[in-house]
Amino acid sequence: MREITVPLPGRDSSYRILIGPGLGSLLGEWLSPLALNQRLFLITDRRVGRLYGAQVQKALEDAGYSPIFLTISPGERSKSWPVVQRLARELLARGAHRRSPLMALGGGVVGDLTGFLASIFMRGVPFLQVPTTLLAMVDAAIGGKTAINLREGKNLLGTFHQPRLVVIDPEFLQTLPRAERLNGLAEVLKTAFIRDAGFLELLEQVRPRLFTDREALTEVIYRAAAIKAEVVAADEREGDLRRILNFGHTLGHALEQASGYRLPHGLAVAWGMDAALGLSEKLADLTPAEVRRGRQILRDFGLCRTFPALDRQAILAALPMDKKRQGTDLVFVLLKRLGEAIIHPNVPLPLIAECLEGVAG
Ligand code: ADP
Ligand code: ZN
Repeated sequence: MREITVPLPGRDSSYRILIGPGLGSLLGEWLSPLALNQRLFLITDRRVGRLYGAQVQKALEDAGYSPIFLTISPGERSKSWPVVQRLARELLARGAHRRSPLMALGGGVVGDLTGFLASIFMRGVPFLQVPTTLLAMVDAAIGGKTAINLREGKNLLGTFHQPRLVVIDPEFLQTLPRAERLNGLAEVLKTAFIRDAGFLELLEQVRPRLFTDREALTEVIYRAAAIKAEVVAADEREGDLRRILNFGHTLGHALEQASGYRLPHGLAVAWGMDAALGLSEKLADLTPAEVRRGRQILRDFGLCRTFPALDRQAILAALPMDKKRQGTDLVFVLLKRLGEAIIHPNVPLPLIAECLEGVAG
């Protein structure tokens, strides 16, 4: 088992992220030190509930907890105000009060929604994360951001609400569809690109056996989660650091938006990273050999295969340009070398268009 301790901003406390195969069956053990109310409310989606509900229920009951399950429909549409309201009413109907813990069992959708609800229900109740997608394990479940969507856009209502504990069982990923694995892999690769050349090497080595070798998978999740946790924690002191987590995301978000959110987040971010590698050669000293290697790694992992059929102008128009303040230039996360990111304050739009053409082919 691996463990990460995340210090909490402005407080004398911290929480733990535990990573290990089989932890899902031992959940209760790790909860005990927190001395939480034993009647806890577990929110999951129908699919994850069907796969892992019974196992998690038993793990909790064995340790003396009596979990009450609340279920949502799988998919981004559940991150909505009506669902928050329905869940809050269900909590009340089933006797929840201001010390009732809420546990999220599922991917980023369940985690974001449950965290949001936990932050506002009775002005805030204890929150526990049990992520079941790779994306949630290395990204969404860490950092304390919660959110729901509005018709006007994604994640527009949100709060910061830190979990009391994050338990990651890589075994959950055995049932995760390939498309969802790819989604998470993009964020894993991102953490290596921005922060850790050694991790990038490890990823290349273990790639062929990543999802069959428990130890390799545990180590990879640990390293990616540790980078996210470290950057988020350091940001409290250093200000802008958290922005490097946006590597690949400026163009990635534009691609998602231009596709009407049909293009999955990770795939979009992978294309964004591909283009940002090209920009990094022009503006940040990344060598042509490093660009080639970076692009090869993305493709070896199954990302950046066929560029989505999207209108180029629509993509560029979706870039977050502040015309008043920065003209048509954009802030971009670039790489100085593989494993080290910098923030470039003004990347000219024509150069972005050129690099986008370059990757779109
Ligand atoms: P993300 O973490 O990518 O935001 P979601 O919460 O939208 O993911 O989950 C993506 C899909 O994967 C959902 O349909 C969810 O039910 C399903 N899912 C989540 N975890 C697992 C798992 N371990 N095995 C199989 N399917 C899963
Ligand atoms: Zn992302």
